[in-house]
Amino acid sequence: MASAAASSCSSISMMFLTHSCGATSSTAHRLLPPGCLRHRLHCHPLQMGPTYLRCLTFHSSAAEPPSPPHVVLPHASLTTEANTKVIDGKAVAKQIRDEITVEVSRMKEAIGVIPGLAVILVGDRKDSATYVRNKKKACESVGISSLEVHLAEDSTEEEVLKHISGYNDDPLVHGILVQLPLPSHMNEQNVLNAVRIEKDVDGFHPLNIGRLAMRGREPLFVPCTPKGCIELLHRHGISIKGKRAVVIGRSNIVGMPAALLLQREDATVTVVHSRTNNPEEITKQADIIISAVGQPNMVKGSWIKPGAVIIDVGINPVEDPSSPRGYRLVGDVCYEEAVEVASAVTPVPGGVGPMTIAMLLQNTLISAKRMHNFE
Ligand code: NAP
Repeated sequence: MASAAASSCSSISMMFLTHSCGATSSTAHRLLPPGCLRHRLHCHPLQMGPTYLRCLTFHSSAAEPPSPPHVVLPHASLTTEANTKVIDGKAVAKQIRDEITVEVSRMKEAIGVIPGLAVILVGDRKDSATYVRNKKKACESVGISSLEVHLAEDSTEEEVLKHISGYNDDPLVHGILVQLPLPSHMNEQNVLNAVRIEKDVDGFHPLNIGRLAMRGREPLFVPCTPKGCIELLHRHGISIKGKRAVVIGRSNIVGMPAALLLQREDATVTVVHSRTNNPEEITKQADIIISAVGQPNMVKGSWIKPGAVIIDVGINPVEDPSSPRGYRLVGDVCYEEAVEVASAVTPVPGGVGPMTIAMLLQNTLISAKRMHNFE
């Protein structure tokens, strides 16, 4: 599976999209070979575990690919563009990482415990290796210890399970990630299910998702990317309670848990997906939009209610001959149009992406504290 995705992406230029906000989603869809760039640029990244977080660990300081040189990121955590606040995920993520650093140090001094994250990498994919390396760097930067096992492409599923079992029982490990994709001869579900729920820092275990969905129940871990979206809203003082929220996308790793989280925060939530008729009529009613679709610039200014808050999870490569790499990254939302209508918007890159890895580090710290009853 992994190698198929890699080989289909061998000619990188063929998989970029035109990036004009005027491009229709269907055009975008046509131009993007299935499983191609999204695998290379977002899915594989440090698949923080089973599935995501894993996304975007392109560089050590964020769960997102490095910003192309021509993309100007806001300098403050909340800057103003016309009347629209630009939500700077990089700055918020840094703040969170600084907080984690302090907590890790406090825990070490008080009880001599250092939170530990174990990553299992199988195969020789360069992108996966990069994501794992970057994750290790992120752990180091906050004082979390990282362990890694790198198995050969032709390893057996039993070998992977054996390592998971070892980490499950290892008191120095508080979080376990299996870097995806796994080689095609392995059953991903078997492997992921083997991770002990108490160490499932990705939060994708069905029991965690079930608890997230149920009133009065608490998940052990909340999936990192949607958790990062909500954290951005909280840290910018954007109230959720009573608001009308629309989540575009219903994937297990972003859209669905994002909708559950918003509902837990007392928003009234509608989920839009690929079979939704006239999505713009729905999004136009939203006070808050979280978009996790994977279609560049799909959400136009005309889809947005004046004053709405836009959280753009999408990370989509589009052709850009002026960039040294020949492409750049854009979100699901047409940024130039959104800033004219919304009251606050996340940029891509530099919005949700950096939050994802910050949330992984946070989940690892939470796990270690819980296991050692450390407040
Ligand atoms: P996914 O698993 O492919 O899910 C995409 C969702 O979007 C599906 O629910 C799909 O609907 C829906 N969709 C597709 N086309 C649509 C359309 N034209 N109109 C409305 N809905 C549509 O993707 P994902 O893993 O959730 O990721 C989504 C995006 O977020 C990607 O760009 C990815 O790179 C990015 N991402 C970023 C981060 C980060 O850290 N910033 C993390 C994860 C993902 P159906 O269910 O009907 O198919």
